Amino acid sequence: MDLVSYADLVVELVNTHDPAEDALRDLDSLRALLTTRPHLLGRLTYRDLEAMRQLRQELRAIVEAAVAGEGDRAAEGLNALLIRHPVRPALSDHDGHRWHLHLTEDGSVPDRYAAGAAMGLAVLIGEKGLDALGLCASPECRNIFFHTGPDRSQLHCSDHCAKRDGGQ
Ligand SMILES: [Zn+2]
Repeated sequence: MDLVSYADLVVELVNTHDPAEDALRDLDSLRALLTTRPHLLGRLTYRDLEAMRQLRQELRAIVEAAVAGEGDRAAEGLNALLIRHPVRPALSDHDGHRWHLHLTEDGSVPDRYAAGAAMGLAVLIGEKGLDALGLCASPECRNIFFHTGPDRSQLHCSDHCAKRDGGQ
């Protein structure tokens, strides 16, 4: 797993908040979010749910600052997260994979999630720049996304949203 891929944690968490429906409202929806990340699963409490919702808000604020070109504000928020959730790098060859670097494997679920997400986002911005981050222009969506190629003109998170907004 390369370190930039940890930034997917940011997208997956932030996009659980849909203006029409909150997909992070109870422990079952939190478990659903974590099913693709078995290494992050653990005992979950309402306190964890609250911490994840708080983290979601902080990450969205960081991404929105980045999209608005406010690099200082984005970095300030991200650096604060990195201080609160320090990563513990560890080399692993679990499940027959080649040796690769993993980030933190201890602490509560929200702590581990935050550490991975903050590190991934910091690496992504460091390697690809602030403008690699996008915010869907559709008011009914507002999902965040990452521009994958050099073309950063994409306004929507998906074709679905682009079509709904009138094929831009
Ligand atoms: Zn969208």
